[in-house]
Amino acid sequence: MLITADPQADYLAHAPAVRAAIDRVLESGIYILGAEVAAFEKEFSEYQDGGYTLGVANGTEALELALRAAGIAAGDRVATVANTVTATVSAIQQIGAHPVFVEIDEDMMVMSVPALAARFARDGASLRAVIPVHLYGQPAPMPEIMELARRHGACVIEDCAQAHGATIGGRRVGAWGDAAAFSFYPTKNLGAIGDGGAVYTRDPALAEQVRLLRQYGWRTRYVAEIAGRNSRLDEIQAAILRVKLPHLDAGNDRRRAIAARYSAQLAGLPMRLPVGGGATTAPVFHQYAVRTPRRDALQAALRARDILCGVLYPVPVHHQPAHAVPGLSLPVTERACAEVLCLPCHPAVSDEDVDQVTSAIRDALNEKGDAHV
Ligand SMILES: *Cc1c(COP(=O)(O)O)cnc(C)c1O
Repeated sequence: MLITADPQADYLAHAPAVRAAIDRVLESGIYILGAEVAAFEKEFSEYQDGGYTLGVANGTEALELALRAAGIAAGDRVATVANTVTATVSAIQQIGAHPVFVEIDEDMMVMSVPALAARFARDGASLRAVIPVHLYGQPAPMPEIMELARRHGACVIEDCAQAHGATIGGRRVGAWGDAAAFSFYPTKNLGAIGDGGAVYTRDPALAEQVRLLRQYGWRTRYVAEIAGRNSRLDEIQAAILRVKLPHLDAGNDRRRAIAARYSAQLAGLPMRLPVGGGATTAPVFHQYAVRTPRRDALQAALRARDILCGVLYPVPVHHQPAHAVPGLSLPVTERACAEVLCLPCHPAVSDEDVDQVTSAIRDALNEKGDAHV
């Protein structure tokens, strides 16, 4: 069976090293904020561009703590997109801020720069922060977003949960904004075996704020300096992430090769394929998302052949009960959510698997006798 993401395959690829890492933690007797978290933070910072990494409990809380550390508070407006996992928006709402949904670019399916510019023109200085999402591992246009945000005095927190290792002009995502949030949920390009996340920033003051916020506001043990909370990465997850980090680039290379094979074989079929972000952008294909108006029929036809494709995300956040914005229409976003289908794309997918998926897609199109399945 072929599936969109396969965390068990990722474990099996590194099983002896993962088990040794877990044993090392068990025997150390230190299970929270010890040597493994410190070492992982250092190694991840080096992997990025030498800033500060703070391990936290998950990607959602990484966004929340980054916003708070950047000074965003209750009542502030935060711009983001609606074709994302609900987590991006719950982080904004957890701190009492208000999400402002910005339309996406039709081809790239990430935040549209003209739409963000229009939003700044309307909201002015009340728009205090922007959270671009590097969806499916495709970098959002950070140079343009940073230029706009700087001009309007807003801070930028990158949602890097799907884009560990992606680059724009040779510079990694997460190194562009004021801070970035990473998730290590098991299916992510860098995945733990449980929950985990991190805030990354080049700003030492912001890093220090996150350090306090993630553990009760303590600078000195048992003495809260600010109102903090508990959001910590644990030693076992950090030790596992240290095993996997050195393989991240190879895994991303494999994802790009899978994507290239899909694109070559699916070219000419009546569906939209992912568009690259230009010569200077290196996406990391957390997902390989095709688009067709007959998405549900294609998904069912593939399921009948034991190929399980995901729909990320079927309901845009502004249409979800908890986050509905009455009267808001985002036609490009809504169309993307109605049409996307994510094909199996992770390092354990072989060339033969890709061939099997593309021939199943071809069959599905033919069987229907309808060029649009
Ligand atoms: C996974 C994900 C998150 C949330 O991460 P968790 O670790 O599950 O809290 C946030 N944003 C995006 C885009 C994600 O894919």
